[in-house]
Amino acid sequence: MLKNNYHTHTKYCGHAKGEVKDYVEYAVKLNMSILGFSDHAPIPINHGMTKEEWEENYCYENMNIETFDQYLNDIEILKDKYNIKLFKATESEYLINNDDWYRKLRSKLDYMILGIHFFNGEGRVLDTYKDITYKNVDLYYECAKRAIETGFFDYLAHPDLYLFDYKSINGKNEFDDKAKEICLKLIELCVKHDIYFEINTNGLKYSADKNKRELWPYPNIEFFKVVKEYMDKNPNKLKLIVGADAHTPEALGNDNVEAVLKMISDMKLDVKNKMEIK
Ligand SMILES: [Zn+2]
Ligand SMILES: [Zn+2]
Repeated sequence: MLKNNYHTHTKYCGHAKGEVKDYVEYAVKLNMSILGFSDHAPIPINHGMTKEEWEENYCYENMNIETFDQYLNDIEILKDKYNIKLFKATESEYLINNDDWYRKLRSKLDYMILGIHFFNGEGRVLDTYKDITYKNVDLYYECAKRAIETGFFDYLAHPDLYLFDYKSINGKNEFDDKAKEICLKLIELCVKHDIYFEINTNGLKYSADKNKRELWPYPNIEFFKVVKEYMDKNPNKLKLIVGADAHTPEALGNDNVEAVLKMISDMKLDVKNKMEIK
């Protein structure tokens, strides 16, 4: 059972279900202490991508710019009404030439999550779920680096998402040396900038057999073995945090959450229960 969750979506993004209030009430029912909302931030058209790329990458499945203030207001009016602490945040992509936009967003939020579902690279926008190979995976890391160096972000969502359909030199989905190198670079980046590093429970929804951890798209077990190795060698450096990435109220406490918590306890991974909000 999660006591606190900082990665929560709502109906505003267009692909999650439930009002802000539904999530709050469900979290209270689960006896949670903290609920942070991080719905997908609006993405203006023609910022860092063409209109076609905007459509191809489902940017319409993010909040509308027009509803953003309503989203914040929904959270605001429920503060102090329930016995739970609420935070306002977004999960945002990071596209080039957009810093004024992210700065404006960040000024209205308690924290901001970086979730790289697509990114600028090779003269076009690459899709994290299907375009990554050993040849271009550095560009995923470069996006994370550029984003985090701005100082706008506090939390890196599903850092292992690059492994979703990652192809090695053999054209196979395997965790090769290059994948390991990127994993270590992401860890070091987050340590250097004091960014929370997520274990995301929502990847299990893509898993055919939840009992086979080696088949989970994310959390990726090979990736987190490297994380564990790093943390054993460098204690108290990396701030791991579990995120439900809830797209329904029930996902705040479903089987996927439980399966990942079991993995964490089996692997003896040291996770933070609470985020320090700056
Ligand atoms: Zn989503
Ligand atoms: Zn999310």
